[in-house]
Amino acid sequence: MKKFTIFGNPVAHSKSPKMHNSAFDGLNIQANYSKTLLEDGSKLKEKFLELGVDGANITLPHKEEAFRICDKVDSFASRVGAVNTIVKKDNKLYGYNTDASGFLRAIRMFNLDIKTILIIGAGGTSKAISRILQDEGYIVTILNRSASRLESFEGFERYTFNDFKPKKYDLIVNSTSAGLEDDSLPMPQDMLISILENAKASIDVVYGKETPFLKLSKSLNIPSKDGSDMLLFQGVIAFEKFTNHQFTFEEIEKFMKKAF
Ligand code: NDP
Repeated sequence: MKKFTIFGNPVAHSKSPKMHNSAFDGLNIQANYSKTLLEDGSKLKEKFLELGVDGANITLPHKEEAFRICDKVDSFASRVGAVNTIVKKDNKLYGYNTDASGFLRAIRMFNLDIKTILIIGAGGTSKAISRILQDEGYIVTILNRSASRLESFEGFERYTFNDFKPKKYDLIVNSTSAGLEDDSLPMPQDMLISILENAKASIDVVYGKETPFLKLSKSLNIPSKDGSDMLLFQGVIAFEKFTNHQFTFEEIEKFMKKAF
């Protein structure tokens, strides 16, 4: 019986155990995926080894610690400095970032001609998705409430609300947690309406809740989605790594989807 878990704080809300266990069952793999509340991130490696797991996902706020404890990190996750998937092989820990590749797949499903993207927010998620989008040739602009986090976005056009001069963007991304536990929009309403009106689509990384950002996008009749596809796809890509690429993306997705 192989063992997997997700480490986070909080972790009670995580859908990952349901998603992965559903795929393990459907694909007849003897494995179990649990959730592990980890308050002290510095204990991540110790806990990973103590539980004897074969792999894990890592969620807030431990993705940077996960990056530090791996013996080998793939080149994309190294550039981002954050790992959300660890696989143990031959007693070594291998780290990956599947949030970014999951997000990329989610926006491609819009099937629209998207070239320019505005990302609202400059946190960990923004760092990962902006990097993969730039690698894939999209023209990415970052907009954040405050200036300090923008410093790590060298090579991007970047603004705070004060110096932002809105242009036309094909896709608007809310990568902030605004609206997750309150009713706030991620940026001033008038400015947001003007950019959404000129956009082809919008996406929120928050899932399982219709945020004010998503509500506003829908009211303007542009194709919009929450973070569920991103969540599903990052999970499928992590599962591919947990099972050493024995199954196709579609085979895994078919069972993992049942958790939603
Ligand atoms: P961080 O804490 O690293 O960053 C938060 C960002 O949001 C900052 O830029 C912050 O701005 C901004 N922000 C927070 N509240 C507001 C607000 N009320 N108005 C404007 N800006 C605000 O968070 P993460 O990047 O790690 O996570 C962001 C979200 O992504 C979370 O909700 C998480 O659940 C979700 N997520 C979803 C995934 C999925 O699979 N769908 C995967 C990973 C994450 P400032 O710098 O000014 O503080």
